[in-house]
Amino acid sequence: MQRLDQQFIDNQWVPSRGSRRLPVTNPYSEEVIAEVTAGDSADVEAAVAAAQRALPGWRALTGAQRAVHLEGFAQGLTKRRDELIRLSSTNNGKVLAEAAIDLDDAIACYRYYAGQARALDARQGTPVTLEMEDVEALAYFDPVGVVGLITPWNFPLVTSAWKLAPALAAGCTAVLKPSEVTPLPEQVLAEIALEVDLPPGVFNLVHGDGEGVGAPLASHRDVDKVSFTGSNRVGEAVMRAAAEGSRGISLELGGKSPILVMDDAEVEQAADYVMAGLYFNAGQICSATSRLLVHERIAEALYAVLGERIDALRFGDPLDETTGMGPLTSARQRDAVNGYLAIAAREGLTPVRDSRDRELPARGFFVAPTLYRDVPLDSRLWREEIFGPVLCGHAVTSEQEAIELANDSDFGLAATVVSGDPERARRIGRQLQAGSIWFNSEQLVLPQTAWGGFKRSGIGRELGPWGLASYQEVKHVIGPSAQVPP
Ligand code: NAD
Repeated sequence: MQRLDQQFIDNQWVPSRGSRRLPVTNPYSEEVIAEVTAGDSADVEAAVAAAQRALPGWRALTGAQRAVHLEGFAQGLTKRRDELIRLSSTNNGKVLAEAAIDLDDAIACYRYYAGQARALDARQGTPVTLEMEDVEALAYFDPVGVVGLITPWNFPLVTSAWKLAPALAAGCTAVLKPSEVTPLPEQVLAEIALEVDLPPGVFNLVHGDGEGVGAPLASHRDVDKVSFTGSNRVGEAVMRAAAEGSRGISLELGGKSPILVMDDAEVEQAADYVMAGLYFNAGQICSATSRLLVHERIAEALYAVLGERIDALRFGDPLDETTGMGPLTSARQRDAVNGYLAIAAREGLTPVRDSRDRELPARGFFVAPTLYRDVPLDSRLWREEIFGPVLCGHAVTSEQEAIELANDSDFGLAATVVSGDPERARRIGRQLQAGSIWFNSEQLVLPQTAWGGFKRSGIGRELGPWGLASYQEVKHVIGPSAQVPP
């Protein structure tokens, strides 16, 4: 069994100051595969101090110099690609093909922000167009400072890449706290930091839980900004902690995203997008399109095809290439999802496919996919994020009704529109309140396009130039023409 009893601070592995031991479980075998000695506030203190010491040197480098290290992260991950795919699958329970998509996403992210770091040099001192001829203003983009990065368990290596890559590109130094449920994949980032000669203190990794490490990191006075991905409950606690010191935050929170299937959609194609939008990662996706709004004219046909697709999904060992869906990542998450299935039974929801009809592997935190139809709009299953393979369907009679119901949610992370008419899809997409809208597509997530939500799905955007900007302070130098220093 692997023991993670050290923290990575100042480019050194140092013993964790905490003493609590947290088990790390393989969700398929249910065996404890590692034990983490959870850090405490003394570890956070040491990591933040190291990041503070490293900041002047790191921010003084050019973007092009920082880009070399970011390319190194992309190469380091690429070199270990197969090993990391298996590790991620073992720790999280996701099937190999999905773990491969994750890894390629993380690699692409480090590479993209290497490019953004290089491009940053030319943007420093950008002249601002003014209405006064004798005054000049130049724009500069400085790093925010020391950043605390807190990530969840559903996309190891990906959620950390989306934060760490832009933070380092901008010239920030970082303390990363991965989820205590999936701490194994992120270990490699420390290994790579040493390999690429990242200056000491630029990247620090502190393992532990929310109480021991997350909360002290979020409330630390010398942390200039916290970027958090996780639940709304914890996101709000992070926001309160940041308020104490008037410090910045970015929040990537929950979702209850809709998929709108119009009456001109091709049914088999629509079924592809519904399945991919919900049953990927066993439904543990923040952007899961878990509310199906289907036009009444094709509802019966779509439910019939979806039922067949669900029946054909094969559960089992995520490391077996023929497995279509793995277990949920933790017993806790399995129990939470089963709790919603019990609510559905109490509410009398109508299943098209019921998880209780399926035989599951003898071990592993499995929940079989469930599809309910005609779900009332006040059902808890329709309104709350379930974070598991549970799809709720509701028939609509018009495009307008579909748009109104899609927007009738506290969340606004993503949406998918399936229609045979691109013009109609564009029209619908423009009216949806969500950060990412896919049209006749699986959930493509690209480093060049922004990620983040409307309403309670979060504050700020990751990825693209917006992701870089979230780790920057904008500074203008203003003075008489020809006298402003470059
Ligand atoms: P969580 O909120 O329980 O935990 C997230 C992280 O916060 C973990 O590292 C945890 O240890 C830490 N934490 C816990 N308490 C803390 C505290 N008081 N202060 C600081 N940190 C603390 O979430 P989870 O269960 O790991 O992840 C599932 C949630 O994440 C879902 O709601 C999902 O929608 C959301 N999510 C959102 C996105 C997005 O991009 N919007 C992506 C992935 C996951």
